[in-house]
Amino acid sequence: MADDCLFCKIVAGDVPSTKVYEDEHTIAFQDINPQAPTHVLVVPREHHTDVADVARDPHTAAALLAGVRGFAAQQGLTDFRTVFNTGAGVGQTVFHVHAHVLAGRPFGWPPG
Ligand code: 5GP
Ligand code: ZN
Repeated sequence: MADDCLFCKIVAGDVPSTKVYEDEHTIAFQDINPQAPTHVLVVPREHHTDVADVARDPHTAAALLAGVRGFAAQQGLTDFRTVFNTGAGVGQTVFHVHAHVLAGRPFGWPPG
């Protein structure tokens, strides 16, 4: 667990969240400020700062994607958008890697 990491605290249960899925390596919980009818954050239990960092640990990187799949399968979601913000310059605000999984409304392409 990284010091002062909000999502490590959520994984540990020290900060409350609305958990919607969990498996051995990941948990998923509802985003506090949802941008779509479905907006959850899938995070590895292990701390990595961003997608570039977790890619150095292929086992955890694969487990994170498996968590996205597991959540989608549990919900019966076939169409969803997955977003990884990497760096403050594109809006990353929590530096514990997380997949945003969004669904339930139209999504434009390219994203705004
Ligand atoms: P980022 O901007 O880093 O890609 O995404 C961070 C996300 O975490 C944001 O969408 C924000 O709404 C969400 N978030 C921030 N604080 C909390 C919190 O305390 N609980 C939950 N469930 N989500 C949070
Ligand atoms: Zn963390």
